[in-house]
Amino acid sequence: MNCLNIPQHEELRYKVLKGRELHERKEKENREYFRKKIGCINKELSVYVASGSLRLRGIIDEVLTLSDGSMAPLDYKFTEYRDFLFETHKVQSVLYAMLIRETYNKPVYKGYICYAKDGASLKEVIYKDTDFEYAKDTVDDIFRVILRGYYPKKTSWPNRCIDCCYKNICV
Ligand code: SF4
Repeated sequence: MNCLNIPQHEELRYKVLKGRELHERKEKENREYFRKKIGCINKELSVYVASGSLRLRGIIDEVLTLSDGSMAPLDYKFTEYRDFLFETHKVQSVLYAMLIRETYNKPVYKGYICYAKDGASLKEVIYKDTDFEYAKDTVDDIFRVILRGYYPKKTSWPNRCIDCCYKNICV
């Protein structure tokens, strides 16, 4: 969208998205037992966080305070859990962790991803130093695309392209 000025035409999916939003809101309201299970003592919902130095911003579904004083992001995904999806969701979770650390000045050792389709499963992500390095490299890659117009390679995971509006022009 930014580099080639080709819109995503998300509005064509407006009805689908609206229905999904309603469903998602109801699902989130029912997740108190997850928070109890992981020792959450406080939660903030839909938290906007931004950092100039990290070059990141986003809205985190839930920012949790845990009983040991550390904090953790909890993110909802309205898909089934799949290994190949988990890798991208994990990078997002790590980026959220970096934003929480900087914004709240608290340690963030782990995060959670709730896969809410067809029942629900909660995945715990324990962050390693290498995860933070990988996430920073990913941000650098994205800025290389935006600032230098570098054209990225097509993903080697074809399943990611099924629902992509750029699949007819992506090589
Ligand atoms: S078609 Fe696949 S590789 Fe290309 S932009 Fe879409 S998801 Fe990415």
